[in-house]
Amino acid sequence: MAPDAPTTPAAASHAGAVDTSPVPFIDLITQRQRIWPQVLARWERLTANAQFILGPEVAELERQLAEAAGTRHALAVASGTDALLMPLMAKGVGPGDAVLCPSFTFAATPEVVARLGATPVFVDVRAEDFNIDPAGIEPALVAARTAGLRPVAIMPVDLFGQAADYGAVNRLAQQHGLWVLADAAQSFGARVDNRAVGSLAEVTATSFYPAKSLGAWGDGGALFTDDEALYQVLKSIRVHGEGTDRYDNVRLGITGRLDALQASVLIEKLAIFPEEIEARNAVAARYSALLAGHVAVPRLHPGNTSVWAQYTVILPAGTDRGAVQARMKAAGVPSMIYYPKPNHLQAPYAAAPQQPGGLPVTIDLAARVLSLPMHPYLTEAQQQRVADSLIQALDA
Ligand SMILES: *Cc1c(COP(=O)(O)O)cnc(C)c1O
Repeated sequence: MAPDAPTTPAAASHAGAVDTSPVPFIDLITQRQRIWPQVLARWERLTANAQFILGPEVAELERQLAEAAGTRHALAVASGTDALLMPLMAKGVGPGDAVLCPSFTFAATPEVVARLGATPVFVDVRAEDFNIDPAGIEPALVAARTAGLRPVAIMPVDLFGQAADYGAVNRLAQQHGLWVLADAAQSFGARVDNRAVGSLAEVTATSFYPAKSLGAWGDGGALFTDDEALYQVLKSIRVHGEGTDRYDNVRLGITGRLDALQASVLIEKLAIFPEEIEARNAVAARYSALLAGHVAVPRLHPGNTSVWAQYTVILPAGTDRGAVQARMKAAGVPSMIYYPKPNHLQAPYAAAPQQPGGLPVTIDLAARVLSLPMHPYLTEAQQQRVADSLIQALDA
């Protein structure tokens, strides 16, 4: 690297006309302008009736979510984390139980397991789709049993917007008498062989955190299942384990409800979601055309579509990622690392077993991934700037 090489487009520009105004990493404002009148009308009605918790808007959202996912039931809940926690509670997961999950995921995935006194057992991921490697599942089961634990479930994560390999995961789960909880916090709206996320596992959890592909204006989440009995238990857990009436508590539960104001935002966002998914796919395709050959661009597993919760590239081995990010930032281009420190290296999981041989792909990815600005309203000019800034930062 030449020490005097220009490090930013601005420095490289002679005319000084290069745009270095920040590119938004996500844009929730443009979308808000599109749906504001409809949301406001709903909010006026709701607040006039002082109807804040559950109610018809939540029921309407649940009908629409179940239809979109192709499942018998959808249950709207308070957050993605609660959506993950509740099925584990419903199934009675606790001390001595092992739940297999990837380490290369957001903190909430193993956290809900550990919070119930059970133990997450970490499985490596595949570099081609960032998702749990089915080949690691049987070795991880051996590790769990060796540690004196009883494996009960597998929790795959659909990282960055495409589904994990549920065909392989469900097959292994069935062979070993385990159930499957899909962490679809990043993939609601995606499909596998034309089947929607939500219908790919026994029970699926998603998140409506504002930055997700389908986000509320606050916290929210949902559960999907075809299992009537499980649905009834989840519904009870959502309201403190209520029985036939609210003050009959037949089990332990939580305050897991979605509120009506968020439900009405989500109804309006769901109406434009298919169009936004198309726009996200166009953005991803443009990025890949601009960046192929410079970095490893994301790949879709055969049969998969993605909702592009993140557009994440893998930098060449040995790249000084911090320096690349700093050069991009100077050009007005933000980037993020999802996730810099895998969960198996985090303090709460110091004693958690992992797949024998460790998690080399997870460790390598954590050191090399870079997520670029991604939202449905990104312009071609902005994408060109993002791509140019990354390519120039790599060449510097
Ligand atoms: C966002 C996220 C969650 C948690 O969702 P919240 O709504 O923030 O509680 C869980 N798992 C993954 C993979 C996520 O990205």
